[in-house]
Amino acid sequence: MSHAPKRFDFSVPVRINLYSDTQSKPTPGMKQAMLDAEVGDEQGGSDPTVWQLCDRVAALLGKEAAVFLPSGTMCNQVAIATHCRPGDEILAHEDAHIQAAEGGAPGAISGVLIKGLTGERGQFSAGTLEEAIRPISRYSPPQRLVEIEQTANKGGGACWPVAAIREVAEAAHRHNMAVHMDGARLMNAAVALGVPASEIVADCDTVWLDFTKGLGAPLGAVLAGTSDFIGQAWRWKQRLGGSMRQGGMNAAACVYALDHHIDRLAEDHANAASLARGMAQIPGITVETPETNLVFFDTKGTGMTAATFAGKLRQAGVMVSVSDTWRGRACLHLDVTAALVDEAVAIMRGVV
Ligand SMILES: *Cc1c(COP(=O)(O)O)cnc(C)c1O
Repeated sequence: MSHAPKRFDFSVPVRINLYSDTQSKPTPGMKQAMLDAEVGDEQGGSDPTVWQLCDRVAALLGKEAAVFLPSGTMCNQVAIATHCRPGDEILAHEDAHIQAAEGGAPGAISGVLIKGLTGERGQFSAGTLEEAIRPISRYSPPQRLVEIEQTANKGGGACWPVAAIREVAEAAHRHNMAVHMDGARLMNAAVALGVPASEIVADCDTVWLDFTKGLGAPLGAVLAGTSDFIGQAWRWKQRLGGSMRQGGMNAAACVYALDHHIDRLAEDHANAASLARGMAQIPGITVETPETNLVFFDTKGTGMTAATFAGKLRQAGVMVSVSDTWRGRACLHLDVTAALVDEAVAIMRGVV
């Protein structure tokens, strides 16, 4: 069986792309910033734009240091490999991206186990974490790391409240475990909660931001932590082939996103709310109230599976993604305007 992506059907144009915030295209301003970037050799330490990006992200997140990596997946895997030794166990929500969507990399690369925790909207409580703590003995895998996803993707784009993160981190640290945040959509949470990102992650030992989600860059993610941790992480960056050369062209797009694409995430959240309201009026569709830019919906009442619904929408020029039999996801980002949201709702109504 091939694991390559199926070639996209380019003959059917996409007018409204709600498939993922990863599908936004770089804006003209972002492309210009890439062309104008000062570059060097990133892995030799001579690319000034990569240093600028790492310094900016470290400051934004209130951490000592940061490292630029090609993707969020690599941030998670470099962080896991640096925190853990083979045989260690990670505690994370059972729907976490590291568990379900990274090709088994924690096992394949780091030789670690993941214990899945349960809880509403992709979150778990300090109490649930405490119940999962194993006695320290030669029989138990050493529990090394707790992982939190902000926002929780499968949890509907829900935001972990700052107090809940603090309680979980306090419990983790009491049991000598580190706390890692998968911050693929951390800036969506910061904007939605109205809390600075540095405050949200104050109790996390390591955290990363994805620049290819709502921030709209074509490539890159940045992992932050202590200077010592980031120094260790560089070996795994090198091992996994994540050390780049003239990375400054991509870092420039990320710096541009920090300057121009954070505050505007509020528009995506407003558009998500408007899409959810519109979809809720379509007979047979039920909608989970969005907290950020992700709108999860259930198609059961229409008699169509999420895949059938998505297939018909695709023919009508609208793309959404399928989570499971009846659950689908529509995702807002900078290429989807309020007017396109209204149009998408009308097309969905027509399809149903
Ligand atoms: C997208 C995503 C990732 C992976 O990021 P990539 O940049 O696509 O590798 C990890 N975690 C979550 C929650 C995500 O949504």
